[in-house]
Amino acid sequence: MGLMDGKVALVFGVANRNSIGWGIARRLHEEGATILLSYAGAALEKRVRPLAQQIDCDFVEICDVTSDEQLDVVFDKVRERYGSLDVLVHSVAYANREDLGGRFVDISREGFSMALDISAYSLIAMAKRAAPLMTEGGSILSMTYFASEKVMPRYHVMAVAKAALENITRYLASDLGPQGIRVNAISAGPIKTLAAAGVPGFRTMLRYSEQAAPLRRTVSADDVGNTALWLASDLGSAVTGEVVHVDAGYNILGLTLTEEDLEKL
Ligand code: NAD
Repeated sequence: MGLMDGKVALVFGVANRNSIGWGIARRLHEEGATILLSYAGAALEKRVRPLAQQIDCDFVEICDVTSDEQLDVVFDKVRERYGSLDVLVHSVAYANREDLGGRFVDISREGFSMALDISAYSLIAMAKRAAPLMTEGGSILSMTYFASEKVMPRYHVMAVAKAALENITRYLASDLGPQGIRVNAISAGPIKTLAAAGVPGFRTMLRYSEQAAPLRRTVSADDVGNTALWLASDLGSAVTGEVVHVDAGYNILGLTLTEEDLEKL
């Protein structure tokens, strides 16, 4: 018996086999969930369909999350085919590259609106459509990053979007809690994915986090998948409105220098 037997989970944001969303989809499927996938654009279909086959998923729907019409189509299809939904995973983010590097004060109005729309507002738009389908209660998850809490170089507009996403998590948890719907965010450490490749200097950050984190390791999409399973299943039955760090402990550090670094100073 699996922890997710009989549950239906809709996952937005699988682009390829490195995607965090894929790590989550695989883990929920291993525990018995029926997985439904939605991907951003036609160019990704050839990557997403073969992955879907690996987890017996035949619900693979295109959706640009900035479009209310396209979101309506996806959720209407979920209602028609399955009648209800148990888990919603939001693993979606986007910002223009020029709004990630350079100076923070140079973030453009257009770039700010787009990044916040795709990376934060879309969680509200999805939750609004998912809630009526979560007739037996449910679990909504999104993916965030520590740059929402502390200043990290080169995250700029995405840091602001993640701060918004975390606050949206708390407000949705309060709004939907009476219906038995839990809403949580996972704050993952750096993982090499397509989205991460857009952050200038990402490889250096990855190496640095590995050296500094208490567990002296990076995290993987599988690590995130395990925490997602906890939050999506009944194991997380009384947990809502939380931002759970899956970052090998990096966020607890006040000073990220190791003992060895200090000795060298
Ligand atoms: P990824 O590139 O595999 O996933 C990002 C997804 O967002 C892609 O599938 C992309 O198609 C989708 N997307 C972008 N614009 C969209 C739009 N308009 N409509 C629909 N989908 C759209 O990269 P990832 O690292 O797996 O990112 C998943 C989530 O995890 C993001 O929210 C990201 O910010 C977050 N996250 C990533 C890391 C990391 O280091 N990789 C760390 C913490 C949090």
